[in-house]
Amino acid sequence: MSLVIVGSLAFDTIETPQVRKERIIGGSCAFSALAASYFTSPRIVAVVGEDFPPEFIDLLNRRGVDTRGVIREAGKTFYWEGRYGEDPNQRSTVRTELNVFQDFQPRLGRDYAEADILFLGNIDPDLQEDIRSQARNPQLVAMDTINLWINTKPEPLKRVIRQVDVFFANDEEVKMIAAHHNLITAGRRLLEMGPSLVIVKKGEHGALLLGREFIFGLMAYPCEAVVDPTGAGDSFAGAFLGFLDKVGTFHPEDIRKAAAYGSVMASFTIEDFSVDRLVAVSSAEIEERFEALRKLVAF
Ligand code: AMP
Repeated sequence: MSLVIVGSLAFDTIETPQVRKERIIGGSCAFSALAASYFTSPRIVAVVGEDFPPEFIDLLNRRGVDTRGVIREAGKTFYWEGRYGEDPNQRSTVRTELNVFQDFQPRLGRDYAEADILFLGNIDPDLQEDIRSQARNPQLVAMDTINLWINTKPEPLKRVIRQVDVFFANDEEVKMIAAHHNLITAGRRLLEMGPSLVIVKKGEHGALLLGREFIFGLMAYPCEAVVDPTGAGDSFAGAFLGFLDKVGTFHPEDIRKAAAYGSVMASFTIEDFSVDRLVAVSSAEIEERFEALRKLVAF
């Protein structure tokens, strides 16, 4: 199987009640590709500016990520600034600068277009739709989004939702798109729009997977040392899809395991800023947390 991930490579400025970190590496693609790289060799599509460090691309390559789809354009890399309150589930976007993403015209090369699994990570829904149309015959298409696009591009966003199998979003976003305050009703409305699986990310409260005849709730791996929650959702999605790409089947049992690996990889991401913890994880640590999570939820 093969997994293609489209998303942002970014500079993030993150403010938590304890500390402010300026222009650290981030972006939906950075987190999801690294999380997926522990299970498969993802191919990525993204655009960066002249200011983006080539060392990070080298690091992705060393983790087995195929970066032939990363384009370097004249101009500045995408920039995002987020602020967290005492409650790490509460985040506000302070600033988004699209920069080189503004004129990005993504092209899937031939082997990229043959992807079995396509992940349309969080970027402008018009770009997501463009990429979706270039994929020849994917077995599974997943997408993620953020409130900026729900507010500014609701119609293009709904068009993409109609064309995917798996929709990832946090609980607030699911309620906004479906225009309903009850999460289950909102999730069911999203299922009616097209996807066969809606994965609601609930931060420290875990994730809820809703299918037409399938429902699965998973707690988050319990973490005491939450340093920076940025990228948790992307890491969840990357690991989820990376695992499915590795096993090559989408049985309910695989979906449950994929979600558990998603939760485990997200737990590493939030233990440090940027991708610092995510790049330094060992397979033994991943398996240890996977088994611990299994024991926690079995009864
Ligand atoms: P998450 O915490 O998983 O929701 O993802 C956070 C990452 O998404 C950050 O590293 C940001 O750079 C990236 N991001 C935030 N807003 C956008 C946007 N509008 N388009 C693309 N990427 C974004």
